[in-house]
Amino acid sequence: MEIKAVEKELLMTQNRLMDAVENLKKLSTMDGLTEIANRRYFDEYSDKEWKRAQRDQNPFSVVMIDLDSFKSYNDTYGHQQGDVCLKKVADVLKGAMKRPADLAARYGGEEFVLILPDTDAEGALNLAKKLRKDVEGLKLEHINNVGEKWVTVSLGVATDVVKKGNSFADLLSKADKALYQAKESGRNQVSLFKEG
Ligand code: GH3
Ligand code: MG
Ligand code: MG
Repeated sequence: MEIKAVEKELLMTQNRLMDAVENLKKLSTMDGLTEIANRRYFDEYSDKEWKRAQRDQNPFSVVMIDLDSFKSYNDTYGHQQGDVCLKKVADVLKGAMKRPADLAARYGGEEFVLILPDTDAEGALNLAKKLRKDVEGLKLEHINNVGEKWVTVSLGVATDVVKKGNSFADLLSKADKALYQAKESGRNQVSLFKEG
């Protein structure tokens, strides 16, 4: 009888420890401010998913997202309000990740990135367009933004049908180029990377 009670106690302790380990794992992979995946987890996850895509020769999309005129947002409303704004945008991104393999992460500062395994250019483009609209739809006042008077984002999309020699870094840099294109063309828009 007593042994059973000790066993039960041990089992409960073990469960609590396992929960604590899971919780710590989650914290070490999460960005403290926005509570979405951090850069570290992004690197780890993209590596894993890229290898899987290489094996299966699947399409793979990446979307880079950057807040428009965010320096002037901070200058106008203060850094704390800037933080609040980042959280709200991150919530929109997180909420839009429908497939289990999709991931939204904070890439750095006011830049975010989406990993969309097994998603072609059309699918990624549609999602990016929806996100642009959703962020605009928050109607967060930003009187000194270029263009609109509320918070907006620019997005760069790149897709690869993954083959053995292709590198994820190349795809990421294509998404970055597309983002730059979106900024150059006036911000608050989506741009798809095209070769040449
Ligand atoms: P662009 O439209 O070309 O992207 O202009 P921008 O002003 O957004 O770009 P820039 O790179 O000049 O400025 C980025 C700003 O983002 C500057 C920096 O202070 C702010 N920022 C980066 N990380 C954070 C953060 O964690 N919190 C807050 N409040 N601001 C941040
Ligand atoms: Mg930036
Ligand atoms: Mg910016």
